[in-house]
Amino acid sequence: MIVRTGIGYDVHRFVEGRPLMLGGVEIPHTHGLDGHSDADVVLHAITDALLGAAALGDIGQHFPPSDPTWRDAKSEVFLVHACQLVNREGFVAVNIDVTVIAEEPKIGPHVLEMREKIAGALNLTVDDVSIKATTNEGMGFVGRGEGVAALAIATIQSRGLKFTE
Ligand code: MG
Repeated sequence: MIVRTGIGYDVHRFVEGRPLMLGGVEIPHTHGLDGHSDADVVLHAITDALLGAAALGDIGQHFPPSDPTWRDAKSEVFLVHACQLVNREGFVAVNIDVTVIAEEPKIGPHVLEMREKIAGALNLTVDDVSIKATTNEGMGFVGRGEGVAALAIATIQSRGLKFTE
């Protein structure tokens, strides 16, 4: 069995007039995140982590912002596609761990729903998906409330022990 890991990072800027999507969940807030797609930093970071684990490039290569196909796209599409690419390479996702970095809104009340969404998209159980949150202690662009950042790590393993075809 081969086990590999990948890392992902994403950041998007707050803007008025868009829904705030984090981890596939719409979170009530005064601002949403700006971006070509729905700007879900959590799902983008996980997508990059999965692609990274399989050395399949990054989200920008697979879903170029210049391609109108992805305008306002739901980021679940990116996540599921990355998972399929990983599967095609002979791997399955094992677990995901995410840190969301934001001054506001509070992430905690939405963590379970995010975990359920992500687990559903990746054919995992909720116990395989971790979402943590922290602030930036008032420092930097996140500290000034200008946007949200997310870090993710994904572990994948060659098909066999945990999953059978
Ligand atoms: Mg992004």
